[in-house]
Amino acid sequence: ITMTSIWTPAKHCLCRKNPHGATRLLTTSTSSYLARHPSPSAHRWSHPPSSTVIADDDVASLANKPLHNLSLADLVKHGRPPLHTQALFSSANFTLSLLPIRLAHRIQALRNLPFIVVSNPNISKIYNNYLHSLSTLLPYKSKTISNLEDEIRFTEVLADLVETHAHTIPTLARGFLECRRYVNPTEVTRFLDEHLRARIGTRLIAEQHIALHMSSQPHQNDHSDHQTPDPSSSYIGVIDTALEPASIINSCGNFVSEICELKYGVRPTWIIDGEPNTTFAYVPVHLEYIITELLKNAFRATVESGRTQEPVIITIAAEPESPRGGLDHTRQLDSSSPGDSLGNPAIKPFDDPAPGVTIRIRDRGGGISPDVLPNIWSYSFTTFNDADDFPGQTPGSGNMDALNALSGSGGGSSIAGLGYGLPLGRAYAEYFGGGIAVQSLYGWGSDVYLRLKGLGRPKH
Ligand code: ADP
Ligand code: MG
Repeated sequence: ITMTSIWTPAKHCLCRKNPHGATRLLTTSTSSYLARHPSPSAHRWSHPPSSTVIADDDVASLANKPLHNLSLADLVKHGRPPLHTQALFSSANFTLSLLPIRLAHRIQALRNLPFIVVSNPNISKIYNNYLHSLSTLLPYKSKTISNLEDEIRFTEVLADLVETHAHTIPTLARGFLECRRYVNPTEVTRFLDEHLRARIGTRLIAEQHIALHMSSQPHQNDHSDHQTPDPSSSYIGVIDTALEPASIINSCGNFVSEICELKYGVRPTWIIDGEPNTTFAYVPVHLEYIITELLKNAFRATVESGRTQEPVIITIAAEPESPRGGLDHTRQLDSSSPGDSLGNPAIKPFDDPAPGVTIRIRDRGGGISPDVLPNIWSYSFTTFNDADDFPGQTPGSGNMDALNALSGSGGGSSIAGLGYGLPLGRAYAEYFGGGIAVQSLYGWGSDVYLRLKGLGRPKH
């Protein structure tokens, strides 16, 4: 019996009769069977283990559709306050026009991984999450959302989608670590980079609609204490048009020094200089992710080099406003530029009237040795080693410790070890046209430059 024939029945019991595509089959432990009895050659195989029934045609036809290149204008156009129901409906329909295609593209990419990878229980869990999320959106396929009841239900589906994929990263990291012996690291890096960058956009689209929904006018059937939208709010959905990087740095600094206290028993300190009062338009959760990862690295280096008394110095520099002036968010988008193949934003790299911010994080943690430096942008690369807890471990064995900390009951966070901080941080920064550059002064310390392109402020 070939692998394909094991799965062929599943392919054909795709309940076409069920337009909702949400029927769940009782899952056998076939995926663990396959993991224990892997195919001798890690051949490509089009049907990874799945517990969600979805018509193959649906996935194929959606995956064949081109990805819409998300623009910032797309994200803000439905969300100018005051937000009326019509705008909410058009946001919902716009979201609906994007997400199934994006999910189908990811499903297709997962299916194209070598069989030995997709049969790993962690990777197949991610695959099933995508199938599940797509199945929850398909009932809306030929629908236009035009009443509040549908919009509320749709927003619930989006909230479920965001939650389902919230813990993807440790799961993917574990999956790829478990099968790293069998796959080419370049292929893994390419897949992860593409997958995680696409995930940033997908979450942004879903979270944007959820945020607009939350900030919208009180709903008909919501008799509880209404939240009247605050006309002075600087938010448009998930975008804060007056984000203060200094306040994000301070809250992330407190969080990371707490982790240090738990791990090492010391709390590194930090100083913010430059232009701490700067504000710009950005997605706060993206900035939080990046700053947390960069501070973890800086604090860890500071502590491990024994220079805990040396504060990490964070300099905020605001770019001068372009002489062309104008903070019109629509102008920074280059409508003629196709964006990238993941449907990520089309933003001109240099010709941009929205002011950006550069943040330099300077530590005295000894810098990065020349043999380590070429690897720092690879997913899963780490020099973290929980030697205190597990003497005799070799460098690079920290991945599992970090994963154990992440999956621990407290949902804790570890100071390092996953090896995703820099590459994923850079993916976030690049998403809106920024970047991260690391400058190591080996024997002394590191400077990390985080450049972020402001998203511009909308005209009211
Ligand atoms: P992790 O922190 O989980 O190891 P990262 O991607 O954040 O993964 O960093 C990869 C590696 O880069 C780290 O293990 C460390 O060796 C090196 N590194 C990153 N930032 C610094 C820094 N500020 N000082 C010294 N080494 C650093
Ligand atoms: Mg790190």
